Amino acid sequence: MSFETTVCKYCNSPRTFNFLEDVYPLFAFPLDKKVKAGLKKSLASFVTNLKYFYCYDCGFVFSNISGDENKIIGQIYSQHYNYISPLLTGIASSEADDFVEITRPYFKNVSQVLEIGCFDGYVLKKLKDEGINVLGIEPGGNAACIARGAGIDVINSFFPAGEIGTRKFDVVFSRHVIEHVDNVYDFLSGQLKLTDTGTIIFETPSLDWFILNDLSEAFHPQHQILLGHKFILRLLRDLSIPGVSLLEREHRTVCVAALRPSEMFCTLDQAMGNILNTSSQVERKLASFQRNIKEKKDILTGLLSKHISNGDSIAVWGGGSFTGNLLAQVEELRKVEYIIDSDPRKCGMEFLHSDVDIFSPDVLKDKGINVLIIFSQFADEIVSRLSELNLNKTIKTIYRTFPVIEVITN
Ligand SMILES: [Zn+2]
Repeated sequence: MSFETTVCKYCNSPRTFNFLEDVYPLFAFPLDKKVKAGLKKSLASFVTNLKYFYCYDCGFVFSNISGDENKIIGQIYSQHYNYISPLLTGIASSEADDFVEITRPYFKNVSQVLEIGCFDGYVLKKLKDEGINVLGIEPGGNAACIARGAGIDVINSFFPAGEIGTRKFDVVFSRHVIEHVDNVYDFLSGQLKLTDTGTIIFETPSLDWFILNDLSEAFHPQHQILLGHKFILRLLRDLSIPGVSLLEREHRTVCVAALRPSEMFCTLDQAMGNILNTSSQVERKLASFQRNIKEKKDILTGLLSKHISNGDSIAVWGGGSFTGNLLAQVEELRKVEYIIDSDPRKCGMEFLHSDVDIFSPDVLKDKGINVLIIFSQFADEIVSRLSELNLNKTIKTIYRTFPVIEVITN
């Protein structure tokens, strides 16, 4: 690794540190084979050498993705992103359900709510069912259609959207949007203009948790920035937001920022006191992060080599970005015969770095697969699905890989 330095993209400080570098695919999700063939012709490369920097002054984490690369990535995603709809399928809804649960106190006595990047409207539908007036903004046409079909009012656009007009909201929230934006300060100050007295909530991958647990799943080309506690508090201070509540859910941070704080919030100074210890642990961990990530990939390679040389029939469960990224980084993974996903729309599709079709879970019944490796943050949901399908008994060895690599059944 080069350990090159650069200037902080948030505060311009030169005190930055390059703590992670790896090869990443420009698109980490399965594609229709024709689309993939087209991309192969139009793109000079499927991958990018991604570097992440940490700023010791403000705590900002940002990647080296260039404006041009970002444009290409944005185009591919806006055309081909195929995340499963929790609203239509009931699958992959556990984190959204948890968000509704833990933020419930902040939606009490609230009448007007806006969600930025509402996707299929799953969370808004729940809030609407509780009697709240909801509006969503969603750039994805298909997702916006699903939400409208469920009776949710949606503006099909990126934020900020002119169609909002002069409407004001008690709560403006977003889930897994802020880590994709060019300018975090503008993103939040744009939301402040939509609420005079209210609350802004955002959910984002917890940088601190990923660093402290030696996990790299939050790092990929679509996440041009990542937010740890130190930086979140700096950002809120710069925006003159007086009260905050940081809710920690392992790999997710839910930040509730209040313009008129009640007793549910603490001041920024109090919050800073609470996170000081964790932030210095994170800074101490950065120097060994790259090495520890590489060690984990070596463990995965070793495990795959062992099963391949045993003549085992191996399947991977996970047609999402965990698998997509690892296929570009772990050569041994490209030898796996089956990739499985719960979403039937992905059947027959392929990742950029694999010529293996995506299969439905049914393939586990009749192909004599005896080793299954789960690459997903929804491993718990998948494991219960396996026992519903009675497959946990026929597969000899099942591994989960997130947050740690471990054997589930033997
Ligand atoms: Zn900085």
